[in-house]
Amino acid sequence: MDGLDELYMEIILDHYRDPRNRGELAPPAYMAEGFNPMCGDEVKVFLDIENNAVKEIRIGGQGCSISQASASMMTTLIEGKSIKEVHQISKAFKSMMAINEEGVVEDVDLGDLEALQGVVKFPLRIKCAILSWHTLEQGLKEIAASTQ
Ligand code: ZN
Repeated sequence: MDGLDELYMEIILDHYRDPRNRGELAPPAYMAEGFNPMCGDEVKVFLDIENNAVKEIRIGGQGCSISQASASMMTTLIEGKSIKEVHQISKAFKSMMAINEEGVVEDVDLGDLEALQGVVKFPLRIKCAILSWHTLEQGLKEIAASTQ
């Protein structure tokens, strides 16, 4: 990954080597799985939702440093946040990855995720960076559908 800022690379490697919130949550916590065939990254997102907020999140799976670091950073940012806030953070992150969706992107503090901004220069690695976010959104969608 030549071309990534050294400081940012250190933050990414820190999350890769020492991933936050790694593990599993037992049912009835929800589990969503994602796979990025371009790189072979796998991610499992365990979600415990209470009062329309992410009470707990855990990450399983394996893959490249970008995919695993992004998942780790995601957990530190969204644990405790309302689902509405999670969608805003997700949208802001995808916007940083040059994936623009409808509607206004609010000014959100992306914390350590800012370290991934250089990844936008590597189109194939964008899929690695957003894998855990897609998986999270898929999980939230399925949870919403099952509780209606
Ligand atoms: Zn990857």
